[in-house]
Amino acid sequence: MVVKDLQGLKFNRLTAVRYLGKSLWECRCECGNTCRINAGNLQNDHTTSCGCRKIETIRKHGLIKTPEYNAWTNITNRCCNPNHPSFKYYGGRGIYICPEWRYSFQVFYNHLGKRPSAQHSIERIENSRGYEPGNVRWATRKEQANNTRWNHWIEIDGVRKTVCDWATSQGLHFTTICHRIARGMSERDAVMIPPHLSGRRASKRKSVSLAICASDSGGSSQEFTPGSPGT
Ligand SMILES: [Zn+2]
Repeated sequence: MVVKDLQGLKFNRLTAVRYLGKSLWECRCECGNTCRINAGNLQNDHTTSCGCRKIETIRKHGLIKTPEYNAWTNITNRCCNPNHPSFKYYGGRGIYICPEWRYSFQVFYNHLGKRPSAQHSIERIENSRGYEPGNVRWATRKEQANNTRWNHWIEIDGVRKTVCDWATSQGLHFTTICHRIARGMSERDAVMIPPHLSGRRASKRKSVSLAICASDSGGSSQEFTPGSPGT
């Protein structure tokens, strides 16, 4: 298939910057965001902005003031807008928001539902994953503080990493490490023993914080509370 050169061409708010392969173009939006758009969608006007146009539409329809909407805006900015002050902690570190959510507040909202109370804010369950179905929930400050407590550093042979980072590098699930420690295993063993060797049935005791690695160093449990800056 011949790739049509769209570089430098403007499609509504989007300007094609460079070809990424598989029909995807990196585009710069008039609002400053960059995004990846399918060439076909650019050319047939299916996609006309990075998503900011949709945001403006929602704004006009009055959904803008809700805490859920604020949370969504914060997340999309932190993950996708290099001009946002917190981008370096999120998008800049590879923390992404899945496309279905990025481009649709409604889809995001349908998944998460209404914020249960003013004490709740959005938490990523697993630090190594982004904002996507299954990895995000409403949690209270207290719940998040518990989780944060578990997101602690473990040093082994001079290498210091968070539980989540150890989990990633060892090919373990982060809850495995936390369950092992909760069962009394040393931190070293909890990290170093391969997944299939510590065996036994999956520990179901209490709530050994299944959402252990919720917070990352760039954020706090307060970051997605309504009214926080950055929208
Ligand atoms: Zn835009």
